[in-house]
Amino acid sequence: MSGDNAKDQPDAATLLAGLAAGLASAEIRIVDLTHRLDPDFPIIVLPPEFGQCAPFRMEEISRYDARGPAWHWYNISLGEHAGTHFDAPIHWISGRDLPNNTTDTLPVQKLVGQVCVIDCEAESDADDDYEMGVDKIAAFEAEHGEIPAQSWVLMRTGWSRRRGADYINLRADGAHSPGPDAAAVRFLVEQRDIIGFGTETVGTDTGQAVHADPPYPAHYILHGAGRYGLQCLANLDQLPPTGAVLVAAPLKIRQGTGSPLRVLALVP
Ligand code: MN
Repeated sequence: MSGDNAKDQPDAATLLAGLAAGLASAEIRIVDLTHRLDPDFPIIVLPPEFGQCAPFRMEEISRYDARGPAWHWYNISLGEHAGTHFDAPIHWISGRDLPNNTTDTLPVQKLVGQVCVIDCEAESDADDDYEMGVDKIAAFEAEHGEIPAQSWVLMRTGWSRRRGADYINLRADGAHSPGPDAAAVRFLVEQRDIIGFGTETVGTDTGQAVHADPPYPAHYILHGAGRYGLQCLANLDQLPPTGAVLVAAPLKIRQGTGSPLRVLALVP
C-alpha cells in the first residue's frame, strides 16, 4: 500500500461518519458566533444624506389569545445588514456585475469552510482605529502556518464585548473601530485566495475607511473579487487560530445583497 495515497485517505463517507460521531459525542464542539437579533442591537450609521439600514423590529401577531387561541408568532422586519450578517459581492459597486453575486445565486459550497482567526485584541484595545496590515498576517503565518486557500479569515478585536454607543463609537468625525488596511485585504484575496473576511465590528472596514484609498477597501476589494464579508461576529475568543470549520449560510433572498444569519464554528 505504500505510496498509494488514495487508499490511505479515508473516503468521503468515512469522513462524514466521523464528523457525525464527533458532533454526537461533543468531541467536536459547535461555537455560536452570532449576536442575538434584538431591536437594541447597534446599526451602522451613514451620513444623513444617505439612506439608512433599518434596525430589527418584532410585532406580535398573536399569543394564545383572541388573535390566535392556540398559537404564538411574530412579524419581523429588518435591513439586510442588521445584526450579525453576511455581505454578498453585489453589496458593493465593484461586485455589481459578477456572476452569482447575490444571496440567492452564490455557490453554497463556499458557505462552509476552514477558518483562520487573527488575534488583534491587544492592538484594538490600544487603538480604536487599529488597521491590521500585511505584517500582522505575516506574523500570524509565522506562528500558525500559511493561511490555506479557500479559508475564511476572521479578525478578532474583542469589539463584540462593547455595548450601546461604544460599539459604533461615533465621534464628530464619524465612527472609530478597527479593521484591515487595503494591502492586507488585497494580500488575502490575491495571495491566499480566501473565501471571505469577517469582523466583530459593524462592517468589514475600519470606522474611518471612507478616508482610505480606495474608500472602504475591504468592501471594494473583497466584493470586487467575488469574496464575502461577515460582520458583527461574537465569541471569536472561543476559536483556535486554525483548525475550526465555519458555517455561514445567508437567507436566500431574491437578488439579496446580504442577510442576517446564524454563524457557527465547528471546533476540535
Ligand atoms: Mn453589511
